[in-house]
Amino acid sequence: DSVRQNHADARADLEVLGAFETWIDGEWAPAANGETFETIDPVVQEPICSVPRCGAADVDRAVESAQSAFDATWGSLGAADRSRAILAWTETLREHIDELALVESLDGGKPLSHARAEIEFGIEFIEYYANVVRADEGITLPTSDDQHVYTRTEPYGVVGLIVPWNYAFIIAAWKLGPALAAGNAVVLKPAEQTPLSALYAAKLSKSIFPDGVVNVLTGYGEEAGAALSSHPTVGKLSFTGADTTGETIMETAASTVTPVTLELGGKSPYVVFPDVDIDETVRDVAHGIFYNAGQSCDACSRLLVHEDIAEEFLDALVDRAESLEVGDTLQEGTTLGPIISQAQFETVTGYLERGTDAGATLETGGVADESPVDDGWFVEPTVFTDATNDMQIAQEEIFGPVLTVITFSTYEEAVDLANDVPFGLAAGVATSDIDRAHRAAADIDAGSIWVNGSYATPRPGGPFGGFKRSGIGRELSKDALRHYTQEKTVYVSV
Ligand code: NAD
Repeated sequence: DSVRQNHADARADLEVLGAFETWIDGEWAPAANGETFETIDPVVQEPICSVPRCGAADVDRAVESAQSAFDATWGSLGAADRSRAILAWTETLREHIDELALVESLDGGKPLSHARAEIEFGIEFIEYYANVVRADEGITLPTSDDQHVYTRTEPYGVVGLIVPWNYAFIIAAWKLGPALAAGNAVVLKPAEQTPLSALYAAKLSKSIFPDGVVNVLTGYGEEAGAALSSHPTVGKLSFTGADTTGETIMETAASTVTPVTLELGGKSPYVVFPDVDIDETVRDVAHGIFYNAGQSCDACSRLLVHEDIAEEFLDALVDRAESLEVGDTLQEGTTLGPIISQAQFETVTGYLERGTDAGATLETGGVADESPVDDGWFVEPTVFTDATNDMQIAQEEIFGPVLTVITFSTYEEAVDLANDVPFGLAAGVATSDIDRAHRAAADIDAGSIWVNGSYATPRPGGPFGGFKRSGIGRELSKDALRHYTQEKTVYVSV
């Protein structure tokens, strides 16, 4: 049919897809064992292309190539030279933004305009670090009569970056920016579902960075990912993904005493007090939970709304949810694409069943009646009411467009509900009472809190990361450079 044909045409337009292998030492390369796997376009459930299924031998090669590049050139360049190289790369990425956006849209099942905005957003963060590193300073102690003491910040050498599928380019950019600016060579392992934008971005760095500075290893988590996280030469690991995988990576890293940054999952609350502009807040909540079909670590998957406005708020929210367009990502006007894979689709539909079984009311949503292909992985924006905070749909990360609504009557109750989950990545607060806004921002346990709008839109410079099970460390701020450097104190006798 026409959707299948459009997607086939889009793939055919992207000639670069035919070249993709894994990217090691500035070249395309097959896996040592010759094996490959297919990456799937989740809208039409058809393969986009094959990429190598890398294993431990390929990890060895990639890490060696990174170490050599670090030793030969990159590690001894000054910050200004690194900064210039990184900015030259971002300029090239911008020149290829149309293709990068199409690659990200096809691979990640994202509406094309969203994919384009995400590529821009990712590039901005890389540029931020290219600029910040030029202003980076160490410390100098007051000189005494016989000693001059100062610090140097030095890169680790090779860092391992492991990223998920939901924002393949953005999250890679969030790590590549500071890791490279700090002077490290990198081995990036994209998710098996979405390897293509990282591969393309690496290819576009050819002859800007010395070969080996950026390596992209395609493969499965338990194979390439596990080998990367246990490699003794890797000096630092940065991971974004599921909390359970984070535990495994931290355990593995413990054996080599390798530092880890972990950005994990969430079950973020959006707390709506009664003194708000309902339409504006509804738009922000709907965007916060339904953007990217709910597949966001910081999705506001729990709405805590004051009982006095609950009915009016819900009516407006259901209208808004029903006005969003689920469907073909290459069709203009589509706001929600599919769930990324069959497995994830089944996880989401499992939660839809469990929500209803537990006694919650499905106000709107569920599996889409119509989809671009038979048995598509499409879920409508879904709202559950009559929920309690102990239900699975209120406690566990669903990673789909599913909002669980709970009402409250007092400030204390709202804060207790907000904090009564194992996660603490993000929260939204809506109120026109400035005292209450600041109090709630202080009382809610979460790494990022958006007050009165712009939910889940971080800015370069604003630390991003989780309380509780949502992670360790903060990305996106200038201090994230510190995650990718080690400090050395020099004592000079004078
Ligand atoms: P995942 O943990 O399954 O996979 C993430 C990455 O880890 C992939 O590249 C995967 O191949 C790799 N991996 C899997 N097992 C591994 C292992 N044993 N050793 C090394 N690497 C391994 O997560 P996912 O399903 O791709 O992504 C969804 C999760 O990511 C959600 O929980 C979401 O909340 C989280 N997430 C967090 C943030 C954040 O910034 N906090 C952002 C986006 C996504």
